Amino acid sequence: MLNLDQLASGTVRYDYTRAEIEAIYNLPITRLIFLAQSVHQKYFAADEIQMSTLLSIKTGGCKENCAYCPQSAHYKTAVNAQGLMSVADIVEAAKAAKANGSSRFCMGAAWRSPPKKSKQFEQVLEAVMQVRELGLEVCTTLGMIDDEQAHELAAAGVHAYNHNLDTSSEYYTDIITTRTYQDRLDTLKAVRKAGMSVCCGGIVGMGEKKEDRIGLLAQLNALAPHPESVPINLLVKVEGTPLQDEKELDIFEMVRTIATACIIMPQSRVRLSAGRTQMSDEAQALCFLAGASSIFTGDKLLTTPNPGEDKDMLLFARLGLKPLAVTDSERREAEGTLSFQTQKSRSQFHEVLH
Ligand code: SF4
Repeated sequence: MLNLDQLASGTVRYDYTRAEIEAIYNLPITRLIFLAQSVHQKYFAADEIQMSTLLSIKTGGCKENCAYCPQSAHYKTAVNAQGLMSVADIVEAAKAAKANGSSRFCMGAAWRSPPKKSKQFEQVLEAVMQVRELGLEVCTTLGMIDDEQAHELAAAGVHAYNHNLDTSSEYYTDIITTRTYQDRLDTLKAVRKAGMSVCCGGIVGMGEKKEDRIGLLAQLNALAPHPESVPINLLVKVEGTPLQDEKELDIFEMVRTIATACIIMPQSRVRLSAGRTQMSDEAQALCFLAGASSIFTGDKLLTTPNPGEDKDMLLFARLGLKPLAVTDSERREAEGTLSFQTQKSRSQFHEVLH
């Protein structure tokens, strides 16, 4: 039996059972959305949406075989492999993102893991330092990293590292076989240990069952502390990938996934990520009602389409929403709620710099 009052209080818990998560997920949608929005507003402003820009700084040719990904070298897709962008080009893109209202800039590279002690990795570290100097919160997603790489990224000023679990541990091997679920958890551990904030979520609509969406949510909930950002993606079906003909997911399943994530990880910012071009304005509005408070802006998400800034601004105006003016780290710092890990990283960063 669910204790709705306890859920509405926004208490942080890491021990939700799958049965409890399922009961939340299955609530009448009116109650579910009301609950998610109530919890969300305990920690976040009702009308602010974080706008992040995601730039592919190294595209395609990836050795992994993620079944949804057009950048995998295992599949024949329209993506043209491109080497690592120059630091100057990355910084230009970051300046444009800032001018368009983004407070967070994410750099994605299609690597199994970044080449260790390489010129390329040094180039990424340099780009991180320069983008950070623009006053943007920097996030990177570069594949699997070990403790040493995580420390180097944190020292360069990476605020958050994205590494998704994608789906439940049970369904995972239907989607990826070139690395294990445990590999993913190990990277998340290294990210935490280095003091970066964790951005970790998954993808729905990959042919998984409802139990798998619940399994993913349970796994995310068990990460202590919870990931600060939880991206929920709707599969973008790309020609040439094994999931190109996947059946359309009922959009209310996406809404339920977002709302449940907001309730069981009340302090996490849930991001409505890939798949927005397939969603109506009304469906996106439902996701915001369900507690999503972050989106990716720009007309591309790595290699897949995304609504442009203009379209987003029009939708925001219609909904009375506005871009988040300060970064989450500034907000937490001001409120004195910066996580222990992040504070620790700050001091480590200082030690490295001085
Ligand atoms: S999702 Fe990432 S790791 Fe998987 S194939 Fe695509 S680029 Fe490679």
